[in-house]
Amino acid sequence: MKRFLALLSPVSDKHEEIQMSFSGKTALVTGAAGGIGAAVVASLREQDVRVAVADRDVSGIEAEVHLPGDLLDTNYADGLPLAAHAALGRLDILVNNAGVISRGPVTETTDADWHLSVGVNVEAPFRICRAAIPLMARQGGGAIVNTSSCWGAKAPGSNHALYCMTKAAIASLTQCMGMDHAHQGIRINAVCPNEVNTPMLRTGFAKRGFDPDHAIAELGKTVPLGRIAEPEDIADVVLFLASDAARYLCGTLIEINGGKPVS
Ligand code: NAD
Repeated sequence: MKRFLALLSPVSDKHEEIQMSFSGKTALVTGAAGGIGAAVVASLREQDVRVAVADRDVSGIEAEVHLPGDLLDTNYADGLPLAAHAALGRLDILVNNAGVISRGPVTETTDADWHLSVGVNVEAPFRICRAAIPLMARQGGGAIVNTSSCWGAKAPGSNHALYCMTKAAIASLTQCMGMDHAHQGIRINAVCPNEVNTPMLRTGFAKRGFDPDHAIAELGKTVPLGRIAEPEDIADVVLFLASDAARYLCGTLIEINGGKPVS
């Protein structure tokens, strides 16, 4: 992020001013134990943001507050913002990052796949936003960053019907909430990554019998920048959207694709 801010604002005073926009801020990050989530938590803490981390197992994560639980538990999802607010004293930033992927066409999709994907990718962020927005509004504002996908924001990819549908749903919800809550000083935006080198992608390759390192190197050749994204490439954009540098962005969907758009 520091690299990004330096590019954004080569004048050092301005650079420091933007960095200081995180002074005293707090955040809640879901999926904090995953590839992108861990990078987001580390980037926020590098900026001295105090962070509450949420995931099924948060025991190994360095953070100020640990809120373990299952996002399919609606009481847990509903209560996360208040729990973070109570533990940190305020809630300025919410990063809805947790996600699951299911593969295959609808004819190979089970009821269990449906409940898991809709529950984690759509219902949980809906519940968490619904609970966080009034808390942020009472404080005078806040920033929410949701996690969609290139496959949700722009066009679907083949053979991942349920995943693409859930990512399109969170993209649309982000656009709606971005409009509806801007007047309360709450900026709601989403990142839309293409392929990222995380456990989600790597286990997918392994399940299909591919060596993840080899598959990722091959996939990188299809990206104009020459590699797929690392979690930090996504975390830097999340940090930008959470910062005051993104003060005029509401309801935007930012594709992070290394020059490889979906079509
Ligand atoms: P990941 O599998 O490394 O991390 C996902 C995290 O979500 C895990 O730590 C997992 O425990 C948590 N999670 C899942 N179900 C949960 C539940 N029921 N309760 C609590 N926590 C739960 O995946 P990642 O690649 O870091 O993905 C992060 C986000 O980025 C996801 O929303 C994903 O859809 C999105 N995304 C990833 C890619 C990619 O190529 N990796 C591309 C586009 C979008």
